[in-house]
Amino acid sequence: MILKAELMEENLIKRLMTSIRCGVCGQRYEVDNVNVLGHQEDMWFLSAFCPACHTRCLVAAVIKEGRVPEVITDLTEAELDKFKKMDKLTANEVLDMHDFLKGFGGDFSQLFSQK
Ligand SMILES: [Zn+2]
Repeated sequence: MILKAELMEENLIKRLMTSIRCGVCGQRYEVDNVNVLGHQEDMWFLSAFCPACHTRCLVAAVIKEGRVPEVITDLTEAELDKFKKMDKLTANEVLDMHDFLKGFGGDFSQLFSQK
């Protein structure tokens, strides 16, 4: 049951990625170019290859039931490492992550996800 849910989320997040354009050349990503690295609770980490210019893009996305997915691109390798090393999230880390997400500007989904 968990596996099925995760597969659904993987498909969802890959489809979500196809709505994002490469920051270098503007090409849209394709599902085949998206690689799911893993996730911590509702936060997913992905890498995507631009099919046109082959620039690698690191992406974090938050998918919550009943919420518009939030996507954060342009993570640095260090930031990604930090997230990947989090085995268990403490309350503080969760709060940090929320602050991090709130501080991300220009995210259209914030319009819909404000409490
Ligand atoms: Zn590109």
